[in-house]
Amino acid sequence: MARKIGSRYTAHQILGRGSAGTVWLGEGPEGPVAIKLLREDLASDQELVGRFVQERTALLGLEHPHVVSVRDLVVDGNDLALVMDLVRGTDLRTRLDRERRLAPEAAVAIAADVADGLAAAHAAGVVHRDVKPENVLLDMQGPLGPGGSHRALLTDFGVAKLIDTPRRTRATKIIGTPDYLAPEIVEGLPPRASVDIYALATVLYELLAGFTPFGGGHPGAVLRRHVTETVVPLPGIPDELWQLLVQCLAKAPASRLRASELAARLRELLPMLAGMPPLDVDEPDTGLTEEAAEDDRASGPVPAAGAPVRRRGAVPLVPGARPTDSNRDTHTSMRVPAPDELAGGARGTARAPRAAGAPRPGSARNRAITRRRRLTLAVAAVVLATAAGVGAWLAGSDDGTDPSQDTEKSAPATP
Ligand code: ADP
Repeated sequence: MARKIGSRYTAHQILGRGSAGTVWLGEGPEGPVAIKLLREDLASDQELVGRFVQERTALLGLEHPHVVSVRDLVVDGNDLALVMDLVRGTDLRTRLDRERRLAPEAAVAIAADVADGLAAAHAAGVVHRDVKPENVLLDMQGPLGPGGSHRALLTDFGVAKLIDTPRRTRATKIIGTPDYLAPEIVEGLPPRASVDIYALATVLYELLAGFTPFGGGHPGAVLRRHVTETVVPLPGIPDELWQLLVQCLAKAPASRLRASELAARLRELLPMLAGMPPLDVDEPDTGLTEEAAEDDRASGPVPAAGAPVRRRGAVPLVPGARPTDSNRDTHTSMRVPAPDELAGGARGTARAPRAAGAPRPGSARNRAITRRRRLTLAVAAVVLATAAGVGAWLAGSDDGTDPSQDTEKSAPATP
């Protein structure tokens, strides 16, 4: 079913649905395009439409081989549409879900492409603010790059900012996706280019490990980890690559590399990573106690064998956001936590990567081990208690009193 968008474009078929709307395969005067049609409730918000129009130049201005360019902005009746370059392929989240972890060479090649795109945006004064695998598209029709990777392009520039600010999100609210949020944003500082570097380093870590360094559990816990916890090394990662990741995940924004520098350093590593298999890392400890893990399991449906495991809490982009058919986590709009909230209770929530083969928390194997430990402890406690009882009996046997009753005995006797 074809649908007219403004006077120049026709939308033919749905390519996918995101948090902000539906993306269509369309046709324009210059050929095929992708058309992102914003959700009705967003498109009917006059203030929001005004902001899109105001930012038109910034939105349309970015042209780079690693950026999905916005070619046109259409405001037509109830429609607000972004006309973009059509990328024939998939997004990075879909690839990651399918492969779980990428070989280091492919992961680094993709991250280098995204860093190049960011360098161009930052040079133009644009901060993306929502770098995540969902916003990286892989061009599957172009030539393959290092490690058989497809060219990666960053999309959705400026969209998060336009949709979430300023009326919908006051200064005390956070825009972004919890797993990829730089600590300075959590602390309420204005987002600068270095927040994109932190998010990209998080994406690279996720491509290598299969999980993000600070994700898992409640979004509040994730935000706190960004501020208080240090990233745990990945087993088997080459040191040069690890040093780059650590530098770009630095808590202090000024310590992180600039995008162009990061792109260059990543590309320098490519020859060394050629042919290296994906890292042998298992899912990390979630920090949940066995009881909490049990509660977690009890509260949700048991995923089918082989079904992708949802590791992050889904938070809608704006209040009232409908679930998307991609069923992905999107942005969050949260209150900035107070310093005492950030400082407290962080211990024990880190997700240390487990060496391959170690038992997973909450797994049958882990529960069996926990049960064995508990049994051993119970037996030890009984042995100790018995020994203590015998000892006490021996010690007290000369006056015939029971030492365990001392307190009661020393209490004043009732007249
Ligand atoms: P999200 O809100 O999750 O970032 P989007 O609304 O940007 O999602 O995209 C929804 C779907 O449309 C995704 O599956 C993505 O692969 C596809 N898509 C988005 N932009 C383009 C594009 N320029 N070309 C081709 N497909 C696209």
